Amino acid sequence: MGSIDVYARVRPLLQRELHEEAPRVVQTTDGVVAVQVETDGTLRERRFRFGRVFGEATTQAQVFTACALPLVDAVMNGASACCLSYGQTGTGKTHTMLGAMDGLIPRCMGALFERVDGARVSYVEIHNERVADLLSDRTSLDIRDDCGVVGAEVVDVSSLDEVLDVLRLGAERRAIASTDLNERSSRSHTIFSVEVNGATLRLADLAGSEKWRTEELRDYSKHRIKELTSINQSLSALANVVSALKDGRPHVPYRASKLTRLLRDAFCGGRCAFVATLSPSSLCADETISTLHFARRAM
Ligand code: ADP
Ligand code: MG
Repeated sequence: MGSIDVYARVRPLLQRELHEEAPRVVQTTDGVVAVQVETDGTLRERRFRFGRVFGEATTQAQVFTACALPLVDAVMNGASACCLSYGQTGTGKTHTMLGAMDGLIPRCMGALFERVDGARVSYVEIHNERVADLLSDRTSLDIRDDCGVVGAEVVDVSSLDEVLDVLRLGAERRAIASTDLNERSSRSHTIFSVEVNGATLRLADLAGSEKWRTEELRDYSKHRIKELTSINQSLSALANVVSALKDGRPHVPYRASKLTRLLRDAFCGGRCAFVATLSPSSLCADETISTLHFARRAM
C-alpha cells in the first residue's frame, strides 16, 4: 500500500460566529488539536494528535509546502498521489483546495510547471454516485480501474494561466448546474486530476461530512435524503478503504463507491494526504469531534 498522511487545519472564527458570540472551543498546539466539550454540565478537553496541525494563522503557502509539495514530488517520480479535504460544510475545504486561486490546486500546478512543460488535466464532480464532467456537458460517466473517468474532457495545459481558465470553467459549469451553488457544492465531491509523467495526481474537495439530524429528517425532500444517503455511503466507503489498507487486509473495498474507485490508484501504491478542516466555534463542536475521529481513523 501507499502512504497516508493526515493533517488537521483549523480556520479562524468567521464574522457570523463572532456575532453569535459563540466561544472558541478548539485550541491547537504542536501536533495536537484540543476541543472543549461539555458533557453533563462538566467541561472536558479531548485531545487528538496528528503528524502536523495547522492553526488559524497558517498560510496557504505553508499548507501547500507541508501537504502537497511531497505529492508533486511523488508524481514526478512516477507514483500516483491524491490530496483530499474532508470536513463539515463551512470549515475550509474549498478554501484549502482552491481558495482565491491560491489554494493547493493552483499551487501544485505552479510547482509542476517548474519541473515539466505541460500536463493534462480534467475536472469532474461526483453527485449522487454519478460522475459529471465539469469541462463539458457530459454526465453519467463511467470509471474504469485502469484509466479513471472515461469520457471526461482532458485539457492540455502548459501554464498556470491555462489552469486557472480550466478551474473557472469548472466553477461556471457547477454554477449553471445548480440553483444554489453553496448547497450543491456541499453535496458533491469535486475531483481535479492531473496526468504527468505517466502518473496521476488527484485533488479532491469532498462533500460536507455533517450528519443529518433525525428530527429534521421528516422535513427533508426525497431528493435531499437521497443526496445525504449517497454522501454518507461514499464517505464511509472512504473510511472503510482506509481502514482495510491500514489493517493490511487482503480485500480492500474500493468498488463500494465512485469516489474510492477513482482514488484507487493513489491508495494502492501512491501517496495520499488528508486535510481535515475544522471550525474553532462551539457551534460546530459535535461535528468537529466526528471529523477528528474520522481523521484519526485514517492514521
Ligand atoms: P467548505 O468548502 O468546507 O464548505 P469554505 O472553504 O467555503 O468551506 O470556507 C467557509 C468560509 O470560511 C469561507 O468564507 C472561507 O473563505 C473561510 N475560510 C475557510 N478557511 C479559512 C482560513 N484558513 N482562513 C481564512 N478564511 C477561511
Ligand atoms: Mg466547499
